[in-house]
Order: sequence, then structure tokens, then C-alpha cells
Amino acid sequence: MKVLTVIGARPQFIKASVVSHVISMLPGVDEVVVHTGQHFDSNMSDVFFKELGMSTPAYQLDIHGGGHGDMTGRMLIEIEKVLLQERPDVVLVYGDTNSTLAGALAAVKLHIPVAHVEAGLRSFNMVMPEEVNRILTDRVSRWMFTPTITAAEHLKSEGVDAASIIPVGDVMYDVAKFHGKRVDASGRILAKLGLEEASYVLATVHRAENTDDPARLAAIVEAFRDLSTDLPIVWPVHPRTKAVLQERGQLDEMPAGLHLIDPVGYLDMVQLEKYAALIATDSGGVQKEAFFYSVPCVTLRDETEWVELVESGWNRLVSPTSAQEVASAVRQALGSKGEAVEPYGEGNAAELIIQRLIKDLAE
Ligand code: UDP
Repeated sequence: MKVLTVIGARPQFIKASVVSHVISMLPGVDEVVVHTGQHFDSNMSDVFFKELGMSTPAYQLDIHGGGHGDMTGRMLIEIEKVLLQERPDVVLVYGDTNSTLAGALAAVKLHIPVAHVEAGLRSFNMVMPEEVNRILTDRVSRWMFTPTITAAEHLKSEGVDAASIIPVGDVMYDVAKFHGKRVDASGRILAKLGLEEASYVLATVHRAENTDDPARLAAIVEAFRDLSTDLPIVWPVHPRTKAVLQERGQLDEMPAGLHLIDPVGYLDMVQLEKYAALIATDSGGVQKEAFFYSVPCVTLRDETEWVELVESGWNRLVSPTSAQEVASAVRQALGSKGEAVEPYGEGNAAELIIQRLIKDLAE
């Protein structure tokens, strides 16, 4: 069996790492990795390949920047060429980025079946580029590997054939289970930043709905400035967010307690997450990692795809339209814990995905 994996953005490198690891252990299964280039800075790309033990991708398309149509279109053209050359049995795509959609669309048009990892997630907000990408990718996929019960239910209610909906759990849980153990409080990043365990807030912000809306981003920055007088805030700033903050002059004169740092590698990030007092984020992956490490989370969005964490009390949603509301949501959530739940499977999603593909493609 020949699997062609299309990845291009930070969370996809992380998710694909466990699946690639499983494939590498199986004789008779080959993987060809295509890196679209959507994320290309070394701290947004290379570091993950190194830290998570992944081989250099066979194809590096180096496509990034431009509008959504421009970027997705260029990817589609180049991925099609690779597919015609490689003729894989299946194309594996992850999540909800432009790379996901381009990979799925290029494959299905060539009649190569598509497997979508992290299928069925919905925010029901079509303004999000991610929502469009994930709905369209699901629509053309033969295998929809769902991370949660809710995701499988969304697909059922959209009329998807039950045979294509395959609940496997969340590959990010597999990754966290494997690498979380490798990290303890003695790692370098806490010492470097002079932080004590459980005495700081970790923040990440990169969703377009926050970065592209000046009022929302200003409310988030204002809330962080306020909170940083109570306890330090560490904020690894995504390149897109940094560019916007720079352009609006909001990077100047940050208070001493607000540590803006460059994006960090996966292991540093795990350390920052594991030992935080609280995580404030608009990231999908980081919401779940907060839960994996039993850290309370405040999500800076109007809705989330990971509803089970809100229902079980591990996560609170706050619309970043008012700095006061964000700051008070964080203050209230500090020290809180949710119920004991296990919504993301058993940490063997990667294994289940590959075994299912082997079985179905042998038939
Ligand atoms: N992450 C990281 N370094 C950072 C910020 C995030 O390694 O500086 C990791 C994080 O631990 C998680 C993933 O990147 O595993 C989440 O990616 P991101 O927030 O970019 O995307 P999303 O999950 O929202 O799609």
C-alpha cells in the first residue's frame, strides 16, 4: 500500500508524526510525504520534523502567501503533478487548512481515494476558512476518521454513509501521550523565561477572526496587559499575529509581565502547557492539550469545535469583544478543574487509521 500524505501547517506536522511513525513500522506500507510549504519558518516547520522524529518530506512545494484562492490554487496544480507521478493508493490529509483542501481535491479529481483525519468537526461558522476547508474535504473523502462522538454525529446528520464514518479518537491525544512523558519542569524554556511552575498564563492567538479584526485583537492585548499585573503571561506569537501587531504599532511598550516570544518547538510548548496555571488560546490543538495536562483553559472565540471540553468544565468560551470580559473570564477560571472525562479515545488513533486503510484497500 502506498500512502501519500499532504501536510503544510504546524498542527499537521504534529498530527502526522504519529501516523508516519506507525507506517514506518509496517512492512508493505510506504509513505510519500508532500509538504506544501504553507508554514515555512524553521520554528513553524523544521523544528517539528526534528523533534518528532519525522523524515524530510519527499516533496517540498514551497507554496505560501497570497489569498486563499491563490494559495489553494497553486497547491492544487503542484499536488496534481505529484499524484500523477506517484500514483498512490490513498491520499491522507489532516485537519482544515488550505493544504488539506488542496490535497483532497487534487486526489478525488484523479479518482484516488481520500482519507481525512480529524473529520466531522464543525464550528457552524462559515466565515472561518477552516470550516469551509473541513466541510469540503469531508464531502470528497472516502474515509472520515473522527476524533470525537460529536464529530461522528455531525457527519451522520449531514447524511454521510455510516461506513465512511470511522471513530478512532484524536491523533493529538496519541502525540500528547507519547511526548508528554518526555517533558518535565526542568526543561529549558521555563528556566530561560524565569518562570515558576503553575504561576503563569500561557497564551496563543492566531485565528483570522481575531487577528484580522482590530477591535478583537486590541481587546485581547488589553486583557493580557491587565492580567500581566497579576501573574506573568507567556505568549509565543504566531507570525501572522506578529505581522498584524507590528503593523498596528501594538508591539510597542509591552509591560514587563507580558512575555512575547517567538513560536516555540513542540517540546518547549508542551512544557509551557503542562506547567501553566491557565491557558488562554484560540487554537484548536492547544485547547485539547490544556485538557490533556489538566490545565484550565479559556478559549478566545465565539464557538469551538471541541464542545465536550466546555460541557465538562475544562474550557470556557469568551468572545474577545471586551478586554474586561476576557480578563474576568481568566481570573474566574484560574484554579478551576473540570469533570473526569475521556472524549478523545485511547491514544491509539494512528494505529486504528492505518489498520483500517490496510483492511479496506486489501479488499
Ligand atoms: N504549538 C507549538 N508551538 C507554538 C504554538 C503551538 O508547538 O509556539 C503547537 C501546539 O502545542 C499544538 C499545535 O501547535 O500542538 C497547535 O497548532 P495551531 O495552534 O497553530 O493550530 P490549530 O490547532 O488551531 O489548528
